[in-house]
Amino acid sequence: MSKVKQRYDRLPYPTVVVIGGGFAGLEVIRGLDGKPFKVLLLDKQNHHCFQPLLYQVATASLSADSIAHPFRRTVAPMDNVAFRMCTVQRVDPAAKLVHTDRGSFGYDKLIIATGSTTNFFNNARMEQEAMQLKSISQALDIRSDFLQDFESALYAQDEAGQRRYLNFIIVGAGPTGVEMAGALAEIRRTVLKREYRELESERMQIWLVDGNDRVLNSFSEASSAQALRYLKDMGVHVKLNARVVSYDGEQVVFMDGTTMEANTLLWAAGVKGALIPGLEAAEVPKANRYRVDRTNRLEGFPDIHVLGDVALMSEEGRWERGHPQVAPAAVQQAKLLVRNLLREAEGKALLPFAYRDKGSMATIGRYKAVVDVGRLHFGGLIAWLGWMFVHLMSLVGYRNRLQVLFNWAWKYMSWKNTIRLIIRPYVRKATPVE
Ligand SMILES: Cc1cc2nc3c(=O)[nH]c(=O)nc-3n(C[C@H](O)[C@H](O)[C@H](O)COP(=O)(O)OP(=O)(O)OC[C@H]3O[C@@H](n4cnc5c(N)ncnc54)[C@H](O)[C@@H]3O)c2cc1C
Repeated sequence: MSKVKQRYDRLPYPTVVVIGGGFAGLEVIRGLDGKPFKVLLLDKQNHHCFQPLLYQVATASLSADSIAHPFRRTVAPMDNVAFRMCTVQRVDPAAKLVHTDRGSFGYDKLIIATGSTTNFFNNARMEQEAMQLKSISQALDIRSDFLQDFESALYAQDEAGQRRYLNFIIVGAGPTGVEMAGALAEIRRTVLKREYRELESERMQIWLVDGNDRVLNSFSEASSAQALRYLKDMGVHVKLNARVVSYDGEQVVFMDGTTMEANTLLWAAGVKGALIPGLEAAEVPKANRYRVDRTNRLEGFPDIHVLGDVALMSEEGRWERGHPQVAPAAVQQAKLLVRNLLREAEGKALLPFAYRDKGSMATIGRYKAVVDVGRLHFGGLIAWLGWMFVHLMSLVGYRNRLQVLFNWAWKYMSWKNTIRLIIRPYVRKATPVE
């Protein structure tokens, strides 16, 4: 056995197992680095993924490695932290064990930070046929899919066939949907026009569909209105108060009976918490989120804490029904949990969580972004630069920041980046026989 492993195994501290190295989990291990805890991080991926920039990987603006960071790199200098790549399958709170596809691990304290998955609202056919954007591999699928569609459009026999390949439907006009629609519109204006000159670029149509009466429904009305103007200026069709009821891989059917042909539909209409079997006794009031108290303790399970997207904490006032499922909420909860674990070890009283809302931002295209900070709203160039700065500074690792900065500078100055590679062709899932 290596000396490093021996030293780690013999640490005389309580064992803290963290499931999930997303925004919350990563913040916990950073906070517990060098503290009197023996920490074990478990994740099914070998890297942290910076989800806010996934859409740029999906639309070939950034390469996958520039928004991901290997856990091994983070954990290597931490003597009291170990990492195991595995999928957690079950928690046994009575035996204080976490069961995974690679073995079981005991814990004194368990921290669940498994994030969320796409919510298809029990529409199995939609889940089968639609694209989704929650991981790097899904972003690479979208990238391959739209590039394959461009190539296939050149083989289509008639205009209708070509339009089907070039029709992109995005369901859900939250930040992900709006950002994807804007990025696709930029691709049409630049890449399609310049590099697919045999195709008529106006045949590529981008539809952004939402059941609400405005885009960016969680933003201020001023930001929603400005984002809508940007989208329309860029030639995106925005279909509001419209619900998609089915999609069979070729045809979309709306609630009002109208239909549309499209080879690609991206479902960005909601997320639900990634629950772990074994905790069925826990309260899950809505959207698969565990009810936690103000210290993120899972109610009824004194040794288990839940953080981030999969946690539902009621805070009186604005956050009575839970915090938004965004990175700052996950990070702030993780920071306080670290403080509270240390306070608990010292016999001090625990501090209650209070969310500090730092605002919301979304970018639609070059020089086109919207920002809400408190009651203040602004858009345009300043908002766009602010959006880029915040995202750059939030990325993990200096190399990633430099890489993203370089890619953006190159892209927005020349529109000639070369990430548009079909390396792993996207193969549609087989449609089940009904
Ligand atoms: C496309 C997109 C764009 C977004 N844009 C923004 C934005 O602009 N601003 C913003 O603030 N937020 C944004 N969000 C939301 C933000 O990314 C989430 O709120 C945040 O990631 C939640 O952090 P978390 O730690 O709870 O979970 P995550 O960051 O999702 O991490 C969960 C981790 O758990 C691991 N995991 C899950 N289940 C298991 C299991 N069974 N076994 C082992 N490991 C497991 C996963 O591999 C993952 O690493 C966006 C999300 C998406 C998908």
